[in-house]
Amino acid sequence: MPSLSVSTTAPTPKQDALKSEISVLEVELNATVRKRDAGLGKDGIEKKIKKLRHDTDVKKKELKNKLLRAENMRKFRAKQKAQVLSLKSAHPNVQSSSIRTQPGRPALEENQSGLLQVICDIATHGSSAADRRRSEVLRTCKTLDELHARLVEDGFFISRTSTYRRLIPKYSGSLEGKRHVTTVPVRLCRAQTDRHRDHADQYFCKATANGLEELASVLGPEQVVFISQDDKAKVPIGKTAAKVQAPVLMHVSYKVRLDDHDFAVGERHQLTPSVYAGIIIKENCMGRKEAVTYSGPTYIVIRSGKHSSSTATTHAKDLIKLLTLNDFKNLAIGKDGKVKPVMILSVDGGPDENPRYKKVISNCISHFKEYDLDGLFVFTNAPGRSAYNRVERRMAPLSRELATVVLPYEHYGSHLDSQGKTIDNELELINFQHAGETLAEIWSQMVIDGHNVIAEYVPPGETLPETAQVSDTWYGNHVRESQYFLQITKCADDSCCAPRRSALKNILYQGFFPAPFPMSQNPFRIPNPDEGREIPYDTYCPSIKDDITGRTCTICGLYFASKSSMNNHRKNVHGSAVHHMSRVRPLRVLSRRPQEVLCIVKESVEWIDVEAIDEEKIITSEDIPPDTTAPVIYDVSEWIDAGNVFVEDD
Ligand SMILES: [Zn+2]
Ligand SMILES: [Zn+2]
Repeated sequence: MPSLSVSTTAPTPKQDALKSEISVLEVELNATVRKRDAGLGKDGIEKKIKKLRHDTDVKKKELKNKLLRAENMRKFRAKQKAQVLSLKSAHPNVQSSSIRTQPGRPALEENQSGLLQVICDIATHGSSAADRRRSEVLRTCKTLDELHARLVEDGFFISRTSTYRRLIPKYSGSLEGKRHVTTVPVRLCRAQTDRHRDHADQYFCKATANGLEELASVLGPEQVVFISQDDKAKVPIGKTAAKVQAPVLMHVSYKVRLDDHDFAVGERHQLTPSVYAGIIIKENCMGRKEAVTYSGPTYIVIRSGKHSSSTATTHAKDLIKLLTLNDFKNLAIGKDGKVKPVMILSVDGGPDENPRYKKVISNCISHFKEYDLDGLFVFTNAPGRSAYNRVERRMAPLSRELATVVLPYEHYGSHLDSQGKTIDNELELINFQHAGETLAEIWSQMVIDGHNVIAEYVPPGETLPETAQVSDTWYGNHVRESQYFLQITKCADDSCCAPRRSALKNILYQGFFPAPFPMSQNPFRIPNPDEGREIPYDTYCPSIKDDITGRTCTICGLYFASKSSMNNHRKNVHGSAVHHMSRVRPLRVLSRRPQEVLCIVKESVEWIDVEAIDEEKIITSEDIPPDTTAPVIYDVSEWIDAGNVFVEDD
């Protein structure tokens, strides 16, 4: 095996060949001489000896010449190198790359340091987690031409082919694949296979996300705590057919988008992990959104999908717990021992997480007050675009860890009959607990990107935190609702809010993020915000442009994320009668809780107050009873091969 380190003596194939020829000749010569001396030689042996001696001498002379020439060349190179070095020290401005310690052409990275990092950066930002989350490979929606153009723009000398060879090859076994030597974890994807559904609001949401990232980069890690949250992953607990050894197989099924038609509701035979990704913010990267990284510690709370559920309140409880964890201390707690003054949460857009849901808002107000925050910001991506949430990057390793896990079935005895229906509820509860605790144990042993994973199972019946009550006037002064973004900040009144602990106000001098608006240079167009009045945050949000007027208070101009929220404000702050309160007409009702109805409104799935619903107009969908049976697995390897380890959403 050739070693990778550079050997000091170069290979000498010609010399080696000569040496072996000489030794063969010498052996033959010796043997012939001995034969003659023993008197065994026939006629002509003297002639043969003479010829062998001559041949040996010729070869030896040839070898001597070669050695001499090699030595001369060595001297010449050393002399040349010394000359260039002395020239270089005399003229330090002259760049010379001709002197190298290694043979061969230098790799592009050698003279252009940071090349691989830049490819990573270009690919990372604006790319989503890989398909099916089976790998940690980043999926970039850029084409090779775009990537190449960006690199050239950034001042790198690199050809298109060389760029390509720094990405992960399509087939690593192929001849072409072997040329990809130093690669970055980036793979190009064909544009047309981008399965993330476009949404009219995606650029609007991106503007908010960019704004928050910029804010985080400017304030820096000492003032900002950034957490990305998601609980769309489900771990169904299956039951294998009785004849096989009957293990319980776990896998992560993952729903990326909320599809109107197959939105999973109701109790399921599954575990629900809520995943919280701590996001490390780099120091001294002011104004660059790359400052907000993708790595950090991970906290996972696992609940039984059948006996409890993850709601806005459980998320609030999990966050409170997270802030006490040792692994999150550096990330979340400032030097003064308090939670860092500016908190940014990025959530997925599910009905229990989205920032316009009133329970999310009241829990956030509690956090805001409890931790004496200067600002609390919660944002989500446009529907169908949640794969861009940072926490999604943690799903690949978490899922991979489970891909091959088979738990012993019937740890406490079977609670299911042969059809997968529950026959023993109490047994089921402790079996779920055992499965949940095992899952937590598996994940807790993981380290992602050099950061710990902390996972725990929370059995049903937990006590949940109470939310703080605030007046509608306080609400109007400190809270700004909008479709995808919630802002809570301290007001300017010293008697109301405690002194600020961060420089947030220096950046948001109006108190809140201003509404994003479309701009263009040609034709020159910058909208003129209403004089002295803050415009509704969603003014330029494409999908709800028409609802802005209905959601804005006609008396003070405050904008709310729903009509009912605005009506509450009108009634309680201005004391004005709400005449005919128009009710929401959902397309379909999916589920009910006391006082709340989960329904499909336009394109989203939301929890809406019972009073705000037009009950008569509800198209009562033929109630599909929730599927509470455990999936029966007949062949474990087939089940894995069929892609059940990850359930695709389309
Ligand atoms: Zn205040
Ligand atoms: Zn008002």
